[in-house]
Formats: sequence, C-alpha cells, structure tokens
Amino acid sequence: MEAYFLSSSAIKPVALGETGLDRFHLPKDAGEAERILDLQKASFSQSLQLAKQWGVPVVVHSRGAFQECVDLIDASGVPWNQVIFHCFVEGPSEMEQLLRRGGWGSFTGVATYKSADTVRQALRAQGLGRLMLETDAPYLTPVPHRGKPNEPAYLVHTAEAAAQTLGVTLAEVIETTTDTAKTVFQIP
Ligand SMILES: [Zn+2]
Repeated sequence: MEAYFLSSSAIKPVALGETGLDRFHLPKDAGEAERILDLQKASFSQSLQLAKQWGVPVVVHSRGAFQECVDLIDASGVPWNQVIFHCFVEGPSEMEQLLRRGGWGSFTGVATYKSADTVRQALRAQGLGRLMLETDAPYLTPVPHRGKPNEPAYLVHTAEAAAQTLGVTLAEVIETTTDTAKTVFQIP
C-alpha cells in the first residue's frame, strides 16, 4: 500500500499533518510520559521524512515543545519554507527563530483574546507579508463567539484582530493571507 502511494504522484497530498510533539497531554507518570514522548518524536521524525520525500509542506503541532520540534525539523532536512507551525501561541522570540529559518506561523482565534499580548507580538513580528490564519475548529473560537464551537465563518474575527494588530485594513489581511496560503500549499 505504501509503495503504491509513494509511486503515484496523482494522489500526492497537498500537505502532511498536523504532526509534532505535545507535552500537554502526557500521562502523569514520569517514566510513562517519557516513553510516550519518545514515541511522538519517532512518529514526528517519520512524518518529516515522508513530507521531505513527497516534497509537500508539513503542518506542525507543537504544544509545550517548540524547541524540540525545531531541533527535529532542523535534523530532518525538510526545507523550512515548507514548515508551518499551526496554532502559533508562542511569543516573538520563537517567531524570530521561525523567520530566521524561513518557516511560517499560523494564527488562530487566540489572537483575539485579551490575555494574548505575546501572541499578538509574535503576529506583529511575522508581519502582514508572511501572515497565515486558521480556525483550528472546533477549538480556539475567536471573540466574540468564544465558548461556542469554532467554525470557518468566525475566521473573520481573527483576521480583524490581525488587521488591528498590524495597523492595516481587513481587506489587506484577507487578500494577503489568501495569497500566502495558496503559495505555501501550492494551490492554483
Ligand atoms: Zn494541533
């Protein structure tokens, strides 16, 4: 089955993911947590090799494991211009690390939350030209719908928060992020 997939370019996916490391959902037992994290690292590394082989972008899930994800991506040889850290909730210094390498951060409804100043600083550090937005539906619903299940129609609120953060118009955010997503995911 795998050989078939790899030999047929007609069914190559647009991207691979989300894949990555998550320290948030680890079991309480330290030994068991380490075992699970090792499995996550092995799985993530294999996903990265597959993305490299296929030449497709990889959507990275990183929760409490930013540096470990960066290190594994560095080691993998995946081109950084095909790496998207989805649901970017780190600060500006982590964003600088991505920008230095040519990677991308994608922002969710968190950018609308009052307490999320460092996330907005990261958004500003990325700038309009490299900005990416996403829903992460049904999670991370933007204000003013926070508390309800998220859906794509609410993305406009995240875009509004981005526009406000960047001091640009909503139309500019919509146009630029659409172009960027098409470029990064090679969508015609
Ligand atoms: Zn995720």
